[in-house]
Amino acid sequence: MTHALIECDEAAFRKTSEYLPVECLVVNNIFRDQLDRFGEITHTLHAIRDGITHIPDATLCLNADCSLTASLALQVPNKIVWFGVNVPIYENTAQELSDAPYCIRCKTEYQYDYTTYGHLGGFSCPHCGYLRQEPQVAVTQVLKTGPDSSDILLDLFGHVHEVHVNLQGGYNIYNAAATARIIGIKEETAITAFGQFECGFGRAKQFTLGQAQARMMLVKNPAGFNQVINLISHDEGCCKLAFLLNDRFADGTDISWIWDVDFEALAAQQARFTCILVSGVRANDMALRLKYAGFVFDRIEVIRTYEELLDAVGADEAPAFLMPSYTAMFELRGEIRKHTDVKAFYE
Ligand SMILES: [Zn+2]
Repeated sequence: MTHALIECDEAAFRKTSEYLPVECLVVNNIFRDQLDRFGEITHTLHAIRDGITHIPDATLCLNADCSLTASLALQVPNKIVWFGVNVPIYENTAQELSDAPYCIRCKTEYQYDYTTYGHLGGFSCPHCGYLRQEPQVAVTQVLKTGPDSSDILLDLFGHVHEVHVNLQGGYNIYNAAATARIIGIKEETAITAFGQFECGFGRAKQFTLGQAQARMMLVKNPAGFNQVINLISHDEGCCKLAFLLNDRFADGTDISWIWDVDFEALAAQQARFTCILVSGVRANDMALRLKYAGFVFDRIEVIRTYEELLDAVGADEAPAFLMPSYTAMFELRGEIRKHTDVKAFYE
């Protein structure tokens, strides 16, 4: 039997769920994203909930750590499988504003046993008793987090596996847990696949740019950006930073979200950064944000063209982290093609 695995946009899911014979729906998390398009996060939640009404026979695989996602289990007839991370992922994490600090049922502030990132973690409401469900697919221990991969213990319905996740960051630990038990794929096959997975362009793939090793990491919302900041903060040695902020439709035209990103955590380490480059349509807003985060303003270089930016990145051997918004990533990719052999990206 053939299965298709489809990644679906929240807003599109509301409609496509009427036509697709969905066996299993995985909902990983709900964060504020593209505010101008989706509005507040409860709108995103409503779109998914509407979609679920079309697929009452589908199994829902829900992230137990996300109080918003978990609320989808309330008042639906579907079978539920919970996945989650039972322990903190990082020792020190970026200071984050929670996207969901208050109980979705009664508006009381949640209490947390621990958090993994953003509003994800062991939440419970002291007033109405709404709380995190015990996951059947659970990350029980984070053995190691590195710039390129993580090692975890994953409990799959009682079978514990040591898993190498060949992608960096806490969000990929969640992605692994979310997809660990895909219909029609053997447990062992899935576990092996995590160790061999290669990331796509814009997902931290490393490449050579002039004299430097560079990594490109797509940033599009506070939660994701804070994960990238965690990654840089846990790295050591000198490096260059390049921020590329656009405000085109696919980026979200409202860029106020950058004020909710913990750039202060990076500013605290600014002696490590040999260059702080800013580019993109909204470069000035980005520079201003970095200034208020505590970066020495004279060190922030606003660069208007990607060509100049890439020249600056490749000028010496200090490794670089490139952090573009969505459309900036595609524009940058075109420019990188002229600077380096990036055939690997397209294969
Ligand atoms: Zn409550």
